[in-house]
Amino acid sequence: MEKREVYCEACNREIKSRQELVVTTIFFSLVCYHDACFSKSIKGLKTLFVSNSPINGVAGTTYSIFLFLVAVLFFIFSPIYNILAILMLIVPTYRVLAWFMYERYLEP
Ligand SMILES: [Zn+2]
Repeated sequence: MEKREVYCEACNREIKSRQELVVTTIFFSLVCYHDACFSKSIKGLKTLFVSNSPINGVAGTTYSIFLFLVAVLFFIFSPIYNILAILMLIVPTYRVLAWFMYERYLEP
């Protein structure tokens, strides 16, 4: 598989493993941090712009799967709420993108 280096938004050093990778969004675009850099960043000035919940990790993945399932139920049972279902799919879409763009290139 092709290799791609992933760099931390805060310290500009390479992120080597999924363990230390935190993916989040700034103004709807995906950004990567080291676990430690992310903790520091959300306490600093960037708080206004950085959503303070990681997209990846167990919590982010569970939340994404939950929203995806609820969205599917909305599509099936309440067509009038389709717009709500589409909004719910934003988080799972980011989750898949985070994996596709960054996580798959890193050591587990
Ligand atoms: Zn860093």
